[in-house]
Parts: sequence; structure tokens; C-alpha cells
Amino acid sequence: MNYVIIGACAAGLSTAEAIRKADAKGNITMLTEEAYLPYSRPSISYFLKGKVKESDMALRKPAFYKANNIKSAKNHTLMINFALQQVQSLLFRQWKMLTVRIMQ
Ligand SMILES: Cc1cc2nc3c(=O)[nH]c(=O)nc-3n(C[C@H](O)[C@H](O)[C@H](O)COP(=O)(O)OP(=O)(O)OC[C@H]3O[C@@H](n4cnc5c(N)ncnc54)[C@H](O)[C@@H]3O)c2cc1C
Repeated sequence: MNYVIIGACAAGLSTAEAIRKADAKGNITMLTEEAYLPYSRPSISYFLKGKVKESDMALRKPAFYKANNIKSAKNHTLMINFALQQVQSLLFRQWKMLTVRIMQ
């Protein structure tokens, strides 16, 4: 099975972890429009005050994603049309249709 998770923060990470517990071999990919893998939002204010380093804001270390074979695509904006059950991806400034089955 191929799993595509739209969003890569707390909810996306929990989803990836839950899938991995249930399916040791499925392909998991997290897509996010941000340039970062899941990080602690509450740490943002501490980061801005210089009390936390950027590298300490990640919710998981890079080794976690490697060990659990969780892939990701950053800077990847998506548009979901629930009525039509379609997901479009903004690639190179053009919307491309993705073939997926939407699960909420
Ligand atoms: C500064 C700050 C401080 C906070 N402090 C606290 C706190 O102290 N306690 C607390 O309980 N909560 C706090 N929160 C709120 C908490 O961070 C959020 O409740 C939590 O981040 C929600 O997690 P989430 O994964 O559901 O959504 P988000 O963290 O919003 O993640 C959404 C993900 O979806 C991606 N995404 C969204 N739209 C698209 C799109 N169209 N295409 C592709 N990707 C997309 C985003 O890039 C992101 O990866 C704080 C938030 C902020 C900003």
C-alpha cells in the first residue's frame, strides 16, 4: 500500500507513526507546503528569543524518518477537492492531478 499524508506537523507525524505500527512495509510519504519536517510550533517564540536552536525544534530526528522509511516532500502545495475526491499538486507553478483515494 502507498500512503500519502498531506501535512507534515503534529497530526501528519502521528498519522505516519500509526500507519507504520499497523503496516511495517507500506510506502509512506508526507507532503508539506513548508520547508521543514514536523517541528514544535510552541518553540517558535523561544526560537525568536534565541532560547532554542532551530535544530532542537524538530519533533523527530532525521534518523527516525530513515529508520521508519518515511519519505517526505517539502515545499509542496496541494489543493484538495473533497466533492470530486481529487488532489492537485502545485508543481512548477502548474496544478497537476494526483491519483489518490482520499481518507480522512
Ligand atoms: C507560535 C505557536 C505557538 C503554539 N503554542 C501552543 C501551545 O503552547 N500549546 C498547544 O497546545 N498548541 C500550541 N500551538 C498550536 C499547535 O502548534 C497546533 O495546534 C498544532 O500545530 C496543530 O498541528 P497540526 O499537525 O494539526 O497542524 P499544523 O501544525 O498547522 O500543520 C499543518 C501541516 O499541513 C501543511 N499544509 C497546510 N496546507 C497545505 C497545503 N495546501 N498543501 C500542502 N501542505 C499543507 C502545513 O505545511 C503543515 O505541515 C501553537 C501554535 C503556534 C503557531
